[in-house]
Amino acid sequence: MSRTTDELIEELSDFLRIPSISSGDGTAEDLAAAATWVHDRIVAAGGTAELVPTEVNPLVVGELPSSTGTGPRVLLYGHYDVQTVAPLADWTTPPFEPTIRDGALYARGASDDKGNFHALLAGAAGLAAEGALPVQLTIVLDGEEEVGGHSVIDWIEQQPAGAYDAALVFDAGFVAPGHAAIEAGVRGVITGTLTVRTGERDAHSGLYGGGALNAAHVLSRLISELEPGPDGRLHESLMVGVAPASPVEEAVWATLPDPADELAIAGIAPRSPEALTDYYRRTTAMPTFDVNAITCRDAGANRTIVPCEATAAISFRLVGGQNAPAFWQAVQELLRSRAPAGADLEFSVRGMAEGAAFDPELPVIRLAREAIESATGLPCAVTRSGGAIPLVTALAQQGVPTVLSGCALPNDRIHAPDEHLRIDQYALGVQMARAILTAFGRL
Ligand SMILES: [Zn+2]
Repeated sequence: MSRTTDELIEELSDFLRIPSISSGDGTAEDLAAAATWVHDRIVAAGGTAELVPTEVNPLVVGELPSSTGTGPRVLLYGHYDVQTVAPLADWTTPPFEPTIRDGALYARGASDDKGNFHALLAGAAGLAAEGALPVQLTIVLDGEEEVGGHSVIDWIEQQPAGAYDAALVFDAGFVAPGHAAIEAGVRGVITGTLTVRTGERDAHSGLYGGGALNAAHVLSRLISELEPGPDGRLHESLMVGVAPASPVEEAVWATLPDPADELAIAGIAPRSPEALTDYYRRTTAMPTFDVNAITCRDAGANRTIVPCEATAAISFRLVGGQNAPAFWQAVQELLRSRAPAGADLEFSVRGMAEGAAFDPELPVIRLAREAIESATGLPCAVTRSGGAIPLVTALAQQGVPTVLSGCALPNDRIHAPDEHLRIDQYALGVQMARAILTAFGRL
């Protein structure tokens, strides 16, 4: 017999009481306790599990056999660590005392990712208890997702080729209430700095202005070279590897929330009228460039100089199919070719991650989408995340078709005070997990 939502929420609340903060103000003991808690739930569902030590917090690796002892192999992923709770004073109720208010469960991790993952595990355990689990599950969780840990990536990279027919990750959610989603791709990212030097020292603008090369002028000119055109495309050399979006994706964009509203909620102006009509392509399926900060002396001081040095922090988002080192090389070649004589350019890279994109027509994604729609009666969008999720990229590189989904809502306040998960959303999550795993039996 499957358990009721009330029983499952009670069990989830036990998990949420463990203050497994990985981002600095938690203890190794609490993180280990959360890992052990998941280990014990996998064993209670009829599986086996172990804690695998890493340099940081242990991985939980478990197996839950199918009801027939055979079937497609599916990898489930989640993370048992949570973000800091600061500022504590902004919480209505204490973050590690789960509380139900207005149909939602409030606690740190309620949505990201303990609640989301628990819905997935409960779906799998429910099927196993009924003798109806058609897939062989491997379950892996890490305790350093919130701090960009690498141990689960290393673990995935060590898995033999062809070990899994699919991966299912609940660490995302709906695009809007009543509108489920699968993220079939993530963007890559490059962050770095560009420094322009035009001389040995700053010069008096009354003596040399008009005759001397100004580092801030050069920097701003080079930044404009990188800025996307009116069609949103970067310079051609930075578009290498970008495939057009599929018709399935394009059809979904028209059903997503109004971009003007999304930007209004974010409190920022649209880039252009065209950027609004082409918003979802540009924010998920195209590479982008942003200047994150510009430094050149102190703009608060009244100094009449020709500065000899200016620096910009810059970042790019890449799409699946692009190669991050080759892209960064192309950025440098483009800007060096456009820099005036007398300007020295220095590039440094701070971080680099590859993107990934799955064909929305892959059987794994199609089956999951149909399963979600028929189980919940809600539309399910196939989108891509605009952000970088290295785990998904690692799965793509291992050739494991991956469904990234979940039952969170956009306003669950993850990483913020009063994080919560609506209980009806949690129940939908369990339904979704059951339906997807049942459908994966047909892979
Ligand atoms: Zn998460």
